[in-house]
Formats: sequence, C-alpha cells, structure tokens
Amino acid sequence: MHGANLQMSGFEFEIVATDGAARSGIVRMERGSVLTPAFMPVGTAATVKAMLPESVAETGADIVLANTYHLMLRPGAERIAKLGGLHKFMNWPWPILTDSGGYQVMSLSSLRDISEEGVRFRSHIDGSEHFLSPERAMEIQQLLGSDIRMVLDECPAYPATEAEIETSLALSMRWAKRSKDALGAAGGACFGIVQGGVFPHLRQRSVHELTTIGFDGYAVGGLAVGEGQSAMFDVLEATVPHLPPDRPRYLMGVGKPDDIVGAVLRGIDMFDCVLPTRSGRNGQAFTWEGALNLRNARHADDGAPLDPSCACPACRSYSRAYLHHVVKAGEIIAAMLLTWHNLAFFQDLMRALREAVGHNMTADFAAQFLKRYRGEEAGPEG
Ligand SMILES: [Zn+2]
Repeated sequence: MHGANLQMSGFEFEIVATDGAARSGIVRMERGSVLTPAFMPVGTAATVKAMLPESVAETGADIVLANTYHLMLRPGAERIAKLGGLHKFMNWPWPILTDSGGYQVMSLSSLRDISEEGVRFRSHIDGSEHFLSPERAMEIQQLLGSDIRMVLDECPAYPATEAEIETSLALSMRWAKRSKDALGAAGGACFGIVQGGVFPHLRQRSVHELTTIGFDGYAVGGLAVGEGQSAMFDVLEATVPHLPPDRPRYLMGVGKPDDIVGAVLRGIDMFDCVLPTRSGRNGQAFTWEGALNLRNARHADDGAPLDPSCACPACRSYSRAYLHHVVKAGEIIAAMLLTWHNLAFFQDLMRALREAVGHNMTADFAAQFLKRYRGEEAGPEG
C-alpha cells in the first residue's frame, strides 16, 4: 500500500550514507533530485527575493519552498493553475515544496477563527475574508502543482501549556488524516508534520499517529519559535529516533548555521529558512567565521573579499569596502550580492555536511565548524 503510494507520486528517498544519527541521501522526484541534508531557499511569493531562479540554482539549491498563504491571497492559486502552474509561472523547473499556509495564517493574518472544520481569517494585504481547511490547503497545493505538499496543522503559540499543546495536537492529527485523504491519487508527495511542543510524550504520540496514516516524509514543526537551541535539540532527540528511518525528515523554519549543523547530527535531512535571504537584504553576511554586519564602519577601507573561499559573485568580484558602500547607500545591488553570497554559503555548508556524513566525520566537522563559527567574531556585530 505504502509502496504503491510512493510510485504514484514518483517520490523516492535513498539513504547513501549514515554516521551516527546523521544521514546523507537523495530524494528523487519527477522534476529532479535533492541531495540531503538539503537547504531549501524560501521563495515566499513565487520568487526568492533579489535572485533570478537560475542564480538560485547556481548556488547549488535543488529545491525551493513557496508559501501557500501568500500565493492563495495574491495572485491566487486558480490563476497560477490557469497560467500553467507554479513552476512555469516563477520559471523554476525543479522541485518545489509548498507549505500548507497554516503557519502564516497564525502569524500574519488578523481575526483568526479556528474550528474543527478549518481556520477563517482576514488577509494581511486587504482585510478580505478567507477560509483554509485541510482539504482546501491540499487543493491549493494541487493547483500550484508543487512536488512536496504539507498537511495543514495548527501552530500553537509559544509558550503554551501542556494541556493547550495536547488539544492543539489532537486537532492537527485529525487535520493530517483529512489532508492525506484529500491528497488523492493525482497528488504529489505529502509530508506530515510532527507537533507536540517541548513535551516528548506528545511528540511521540504525534509520530505514532502520523506514521499510522503514512506519509512520504515527516516534518518536525512548532520549533524555532522562541524555545531556544538546546530545547530544540532536546525535542529532536526525543522525536527523530521514533520516525521511520527510510523517510526524509524536515525541520521546518530552521535555521541559523549552527542550528542546522546540530540538527543534521540528530538525523534531520531537510531545512528551510528566510535567514540567508532576509539577512542579505539587511546587510548581514554569513561566513565560516560567523555572521558579519557589512554596515559596520570597519569594512569601509577593506579591499579584501567577503570570504576568499567562496565562489559567489559577491566574493569573486567585489571588496568588503564596496559591499559596505552599497549597503550604506541602500543600493539594490547590495541585496542582490549579499543574498547570493548567503545562499551560496548555506549550500556550501550543506555540501560540507553531506561530505562529512560520507566520511564518518560529522561530529568532528560539527566541532570544528562551531569553534570557527563561534570564534572571535561570534554572532552578528552591532
Ligand atoms: Zn560569497
């Protein structure tokens, strides 16, 4: 039954190497393969901001994420379907993962009304009223034509009590079943989302209920919401060992480079985060020596490249002094160059992690990475 399902969605996951809990592998889909551990750049509104799609691919990205919430409101899923689907619309022919819209409904919209049926909310753009149910979330992702679809879940605010998390989890698990039922035979791959807050027994209950339904992959949701890195790692250690080893594991909305390294060590395969793109538009650059703020005056006379080991256009052809200048002057090229660099850095990090897993060196790599990354220039300056 499960195997037939996988064939229908054309979705396969092969583990190439393991090292402790860490794995490297390949997710195969009709539109292309994704090497894991993988970082998915975020293309919120059908664009990875400040980047051409071919440039995103050039950084090494195999897959991007697009947001159902944003696209359903503008320009509309039915319109994108009529125009030939999301891949054609945004000129990205490779795999796309869409979220369900649930997270943005909770974080961006006003006047949310959650019921058993779904969630009624007002658009943050024009105040118009919309309704998202598990069935509608799957229908929208079908209209977009994404390769990996996410179930609609409720994302409880942090912090929440155990009772609140338990109630929310029960609803999310009923919604997961309805999402899977709505996927239909024609659908792409579908991932379930493990919830349960910081409570190990609730996380394990969520894993049990989702694996009983059966999904192509499993996401860990409800983290990176303010619980802190050590609490996040604790949740992964209480959750990941219970997930089926032969399915990809996706940590949603994570994260900082040191979060990613720690999560790979704990068995996570896929990540997404706005950090490299958003930071790139704010004058911040990620390097092996930590995060740098190009606004800082100490870069004004520095003729050296941002990162001499990086092959991206920002590092190949420009100095730190130039990047400082265009950031200070608010020039569009500052966002373009720093976004490109940050995406290239995240992809270089993923490549290094895949190689470390292949050489059984993941723990050594992580220790050396963290020592260097958190060294003298640890954290963002100023
Ligand atoms: Zn670079």
